[in-house]
Amino acid sequence: MYKLATRLKPILLFIVLSGSVILSGQNRQQNRNQQRYRGNSDETLNIICSFSDYASITKRIVGSYGNVQHIAHGEQDPHFVSPKPSYSMMLRDADLWITTGMDLEVWSTTILDKARNRQIMDGEIGFVSVSDGVKVLQKVEKADRTEGDIHLMGNPHITTGPLNWKVIAANITTGLIKVDPSNASYYQANMEAFNDQVDRAMFGDELIDIFKGEMLSKLLENNTLFTFLEEEYQGEKLIEKLGGWLKQMEPLRGKKIVAYHKNWVYFIETFDLEIVGYIEPKPGIPPSAKHVQHMIQTIHDQNIKLMLVASYFEKSSARMIEDKTGIKAVYLPLFVQGSPEINDNFQLVDYWIDQVKMHIQ
Ligand SMILES: [Zn+2]
Repeated sequence: MYKLATRLKPILLFIVLSGSVILSGQNRQQNRNQQRYRGNSDETLNIICSFSDYASITKRIVGSYGNVQHIAHGEQDPHFVSPKPSYSMMLRDADLWITTGMDLEVWSTTILDKARNRQIMDGEIGFVSVSDGVKVLQKVEKADRTEGDIHLMGNPHITTGPLNWKVIAANITTGLIKVDPSNASYYQANMEAFNDQVDRAMFGDELIDIFKGEMLSKLLENNTLFTFLEEEYQGEKLIEKLGGWLKQMEPLRGKKIVAYHKNWVYFIETFDLEIVGYIEPKPGIPPSAKHVQHMIQTIHDQNIKLMLVASYFEKSSARMIEDKTGIKAVYLPLFVQGSPEINDNFQLVDYWIDQVKMHIQ
């Protein structure tokens, strides 16, 4: 036994030594990966987002560890962005490319091809699709581009629903952790702080101090929140404790409106407004005279007072409908920085709610 052990000694020593060589080789590889994923020499992550709303959320989560830029201007139609060479230059050195997915950024294919940055292509480590896990509305049975419809994977304007921001933030956080795992807990903590702000903005502090935001969000998504708030808690109905945007919008629940394009479906669903029609017959298809006439009749018949129009649309059809019906067209920026005073997602929804309340009464 002893002899065998003595004979095995050099072999064991070899295994131990070569093991440590393999291990240190792995460490070196990890370090190399780390350096590559950290991108710039100053170790600041270089992050490019398609839209300002995602940039605003990303800045909250990445803090000082990343330099965040976005491509489309806040006042642009998100479906149609001209692929400039400067956008490809931005993407060339990006560590992360943050996009909606759902074909909203069909324009990004060209700039990505020209950027020649494999790390940020779909399926690679630096690619983030923020719509993953969002409960998508207006899903289509069968995608058919021949009629010009541009919402082929369901409604991609997910930023108009504040609860979606939490899913968006989670996807961004996952992306950040993939390219920079050493700061995972920092990104996680920032995401949780952001989510708490979303919950408090939606439901108000009083309810959030009693119930978890996650639970209240689920109730809202299942259309059972207001039934739940009829229950009593410490001698008064829970509805008395409701605050935030839901409280502000509560008197408008069930109010009928029209919209130009299907931009606001998540906002409308969240605050329980009722949409009775769209000026565009299908997303991306300009209204025909016949369809406009039909909408004018609908507005008259149902006494609709408000039409939501994203501020980037041409205004002639909306103005003509205003003239013929007396309805008020409210032009709203769809994105952060769509108007100079709107610097983050919270200010954007504050603005939408102020405008809607001002004109629907
Ligand atoms: Zn659209």
